[in-house]
Amino acid sequence: MEYHDSEKAKEVASRVEAFMDEEVIPRERQALQNRDPVTIDEMRDFWEKAKERDLFAPQVPEEYGGQGLDFSDMLPSFEQVGRSMLGAMSIRAHAPQEGNMHTLEAVGSEEQKEEWLRPLVQGDISSGFAMTEPQQGAGSDPKMLKTTAKKDGDEWVINGHKWWTSDGYDADFLLVMARTDLDKHPYEGTSIILVPTDTDGVECVRDIPHLGHFDDLIDIQRGHAEFKFHNVRVPVENTVGAEGAGFQIAQMRLGGGRLTHCMRYSGMAMRSLNIAKAYIQHREAFGSSVSEKQALRHRIADAETNLHAARTMVRHAARELDRGEARVEVAMAKTFTANVTTEAVDLALQCCGGNGIGKDLPIAYFYESIRPFRIVDGTDEVHRRTIARDAFEDVNDEDLENIIQFDPELDKTDE
Ligand SMILES: Cc1cc2nc3c(=O)[nH]c(=O)nc-3n(C[C@H](O)[C@H](O)[C@H](O)COP(=O)(O)OP(=O)(O)OC[C@H]3O[C@@H](n4cnc5c(N)ncnc54)[C@H](O)[C@@H]3O)c2cc1C
Repeated sequence: MEYHDSEKAKEVASRVEAFMDEEVIPRERQALQNRDPVTIDEMRDFWEKAKERDLFAPQVPEEYGGQGLDFSDMLPSFEQVGRSMLGAMSIRAHAPQEGNMHTLEAVGSEEQKEEWLRPLVQGDISSGFAMTEPQQGAGSDPKMLKTTAKKDGDEWVINGHKWWTSDGYDADFLLVMARTDLDKHPYEGTSIILVPTDTDGVECVRDIPHLGHFDDLIDIQRGHAEFKFHNVRVPVENTVGAEGAGFQIAQMRLGGGRLTHCMRYSGMAMRSLNIAKAYIQHREAFGSSVSEKQALRHRIADAETNLHAARTMVRHAARELDRGEARVEVAMAKTFTANVTTEAVDLALQCCGGNGIGKDLPIAYFYESIRPFRIVDGTDEVHRRTIARDAFEDVNDEDLENIIQFDPELDKTDE
């Protein structure tokens, strides 16, 4: 499928594709074959190789060690890395690190960029984004945020409870969303504060057990952590971006993060369908190749069509985001892509029969990995709420004029 991405985007993506095919996917196959998970040292080797091939951290400006691509130009590269469970991490383009890099780069102070962004890009340190809270705190409705940061002299004092902080367990710092002015609406009175995890009062309670633990594939701590903050003191200079602008910054971070998820998961769906097509072409049943059975051919055709539509929508939303605001476009692209990629991986699993469930192929990992996408970065329902709100704005009722209205005279009841 030709999408007419820019020459630069295609050129980088073709090198990323080669890196996946020559280095990363073979190592993934080896991990699956031998139950031999990839270690952090091997991941560091990938990073060095990615640097040699000029494809390390495509999303980060060159001055911080990346390739300096905007959303549209990073897109085909991110699709390529999505083809492997190891792909995004192998070039340091994986969530949530990639979104946190983007946030610090966009709104962080020069000091924060030097102290935290530079080593984060290089993989010397790790980070988490802590917004979601247990009931009745921030979740689908982030305005319900309960975590507070109160000023005491030149320090913030943070108290609160967070969970589902991806990569939080081993993180060196967290970007914590906290109410900093309780007299204001949360949209104006919330800030993002950088909290080093070795600060007194930061308690990492646990990694939450969840669908999609891949310890047998990647021997690197990568869960979703629960934290408590007990009178945690950090300097006021640790505010990321303007004080009170937490929701605007989170929106900016999540808008991009939603699209990069779409790109990676599209790549995952592409590879899943490819494996499935290869499998059913080789497999015979009832006297012919399974790939000749119309029941499956039509479902593959639908999956390819939906995936093409999703990739087109994501390209459109990325272009709009590069130009500025794209809230509704991102909500549509995210919801549609999350659903059709999940369906594509499910179909691929079905096509492979028992081998879809088995872990000799990567599809079972993809299946576990992709299901959270309909929840993370805004649930289907919350994005539909955004889309519907937009859909009902400026409704034109002129077409209703021809409808004969009920005659009020007939509405008089007998007394
Ligand atoms: C794998 C994974 C990684 C994550 N990583 C992070 C992270 O790094 N940082 C972070 O802060 N958070 C993270 N999260 C949390 C994620 O953002 C939340 O789970 C998500 O926003 C939903 O919030 P909740 O879990 O509280 O669901 P709830 O708010 O409890 O929602 C429950 C259900 O109610 C539905 N619902 C809510 N409102 C409406 C409505 N108006 N109409 C219809 N239905 C509605 C929801 O869609 C959902 O189905 C992660 C979650 C997962 C699963």
